[in-house]
Amino acid sequence: MAKTIIVSNRLPIRVESLEDGKLSFVPSEGGLATGLGSVYKKGENIWLGWTGYYPKSLTEEQKIGDYLKSESMRPVALTLDDVKLFYEGFSNKVLWPNFHYFPQYIEYKNEYWEAYKRVNQKFCDEIVKYISEEDTIWVHDYQLLLLPEMIRLRFPKISIGYFNHIPFPSYEMFRLLPWRKELLNGLLGADLVGFHTYDDMRHFLSSVSRLAARSVKEQHVENGERVVLVDSFPMGIDYDKYESSAASPDTIAQEVLFRTSLQGKRVILSIDRLDYSKGIPQRLIAFESFLEKHPEFLNKVSLVMLVVPSRDNVEQYIQMKNEIDLLVGRINGQYGMMDWTPIHYFYRSLPLTKLSALYRIAEVAWVTPMRDGMNLVCKEFIASKLDKKGVLILSEMAGSAKELSDAILINPNNADKQVEALHLALTMPVEEQIRRNTIMQKSLRRYNISHWVEVFMSNLTKIKKEQKALEIRKLDKNDLDIISKEYNDSHRRLIFLDYDGTLTHFFPSPDEAKPDDELLDILKKLTEDSRNHVVIITGRGRDPIEEWMKDLRVSMICEHGLWLKAYGGEWKKLKDVDDDWKQEIHPVLDSYVSRTPGSFIEMKDYSLVWHFRKVELGLGELRSRELTSHLKYMARDRHLQVLEGDMVVEIKNFEVNKGSAAKKWMKKYPADFHFAIGDDWTDEDTFGAMPDSAITIKVGVQNSKARFNVESVDDVRALLLKMLS
Ligand code: UDP
Repeated sequence: MAKTIIVSNRLPIRVESLEDGKLSFVPSEGGLATGLGSVYKKGENIWLGWTGYYPKSLTEEQKIGDYLKSESMRPVALTLDDVKLFYEGFSNKVLWPNFHYFPQYIEYKNEYWEAYKRVNQKFCDEIVKYISEEDTIWVHDYQLLLLPEMIRLRFPKISIGYFNHIPFPSYEMFRLLPWRKELLNGLLGADLVGFHTYDDMRHFLSSVSRLAARSVKEQHVENGERVVLVDSFPMGIDYDKYESSAASPDTIAQEVLFRTSLQGKRVILSIDRLDYSKGIPQRLIAFESFLEKHPEFLNKVSLVMLVVPSRDNVEQYIQMKNEIDLLVGRINGQYGMMDWTPIHYFYRSLPLTKLSALYRIAEVAWVTPMRDGMNLVCKEFIASKLDKKGVLILSEMAGSAKELSDAILINPNNADKQVEALHLALTMPVEEQIRRNTIMQKSLRRYNISHWVEVFMSNLTKIKKEQKALEIRKLDKNDLDIISKEYNDSHRRLIFLDYDGTLTHFFPSPDEAKPDDELLDILKKLTEDSRNHVVIITGRGRDPIEEWMKDLRVSMICEHGLWLKAYGGEWKKLKDVDDDWKQEIHPVLDSYVSRTPGSFIEMKDYSLVWHFRKVELGLGELRSRELTSHLKYMARDRHLQVLEGDMVVEIKNFEVNKGSAAKKWMKKYPADFHFAIGDDWTDEDTFGAMPDSAITIKVGVQNSKARFNVESVDDVRALLLKMLS
């Protein structure tokens, strides 16, 4: 039976060695573990990852293995060296600062990269022990960016989803990484790549189109073999858990204790892991400024600041911890009174009951990261407000800000606005608080963690189905034999060959696009056989094609079917078409050339082409979209057609196309073998015009009217040689 396997760096469990030598297993209570519990605990499904523990003996290893097995988990064994270089190194000193926009903290060390590859491979080697082609794998987070591709190489048809729990940086940041292409290709091994927000997804797609040389259409990346879907899935919390914890008697008892200690002071709450991305010092400075500007709150409001220890063996984290200690000391020293501590600072982690009590007590939750993939604390605070009273101040730089627009949203770099926001929060009328929280609670309840899991999984199923529907018919050896046989058994063959992108790679300048010796040789052999009638069918103008083919016995159809010339005959027009429209359209194209350095206009007899191959990447695409819609509007009543080609936009008469020309040709030259090959969508008209029995071949792995697909120009040449052999 098909299984689902969750993979993440850490398993949702902590292993601890007790004093008596026994082991204790502490399950994680995090939202992700809860949400995914509905997946990995079912049937044969498993969760695979590292326990965070280094077994001291084989017996310990065995014990851990047995326990994990009973809990539907499987371990990946990491060594101290792995953790130092792969986890603390590449993951946390390269990817983490880059993805959170702290390039100054990146350590570009090749040994980190080597370890990252090695450990991702280790995960892959472990997974393949448990999986088969019909299974589904869900890979989690930035420690395992290479894993999807590694699994794909072993299981080409398997379903792979990937979710990125931290932000994905803009192209300008991501391209700083020397290993950027490998990282993107690693991820594109997945079928579905998910992010928290639309912006993360947009950044990823922009990096893919610029760095990975893949075609990106809307949310789809075409990678030759498969279509990869990219989408945003904002992660929710286990809403019921926080709601019921807030109502539990233990929490309420804890709240009473806290309130007594705080002597009735109003509470602003701040909870974060120790991390430079969280904006903790900036928040403290803003609090200091708040006390200075609003002395009416002295002795009335306290900031309860909980900082959870994290990565405190890393230099930047040690420095930041020192900075926080100093700031807290300075502010408490300056403003504190016998009966009032401005900042209650805790450097530790608290259990759920105490956390819930803090959420209940706090009038304001102050969550202002400089950058955060999602941030769950703010969602938990809202879910814990059973009376709907309380105000959330949230940084625009947190993924959750996209959903929680009823919070007070601020830019954490704007110190004055932070102060204003605090004042606004502490003076907000209760009705307003209830109004905002009602909206946010409704949304958080609906888009909870189970919903997130369901939507991700159903999208993975959806893209697998779409891939099946798009599955192309790649020409295989058997097909080649059949085509050769049909070719050899026939007597009058009509062979339509598109030129650019089919017989040769596309080059805009005629000098580069000239046929090479190998191609001339193939065409010579093909045309020497008197049973063959070879027609070059192209969008190019007549002159270059006529010049290049002058020594060959070929016929030609140029300008997308406007001009036809049988071998030995004269050029004839498909039909009389007017070209008065050019006078109107040319100035439009010209205005785009003026605005877009590097672009130029090509004048053909009955069409105009705007080329943007030499324009700055991205700008050309943007302008071409604008131009296309502009031209489509103008084309409506003029019987014109706008074609978007490879780095070109072409406008021409509607009734002229390769299909009409091919039909005319077939009527005049009957044959018992029809063959057509081409690479872009102007060739679809040719394929459509062919009889059912024709051999039609699309170059490239996109959907097509053609019967077969081949991947490249080299494949085309090999196919023609095979027919001739
Ligand atoms: N948390 C906790 N104990 C603490 C402080 C925080 O269990 O003493 C939890 C908190 O409830 C939240 C998580 O840690 O679920 C922090 O997640 P968030 O997305 O806010 O930040 P991250 O640490 O993942 O960057």
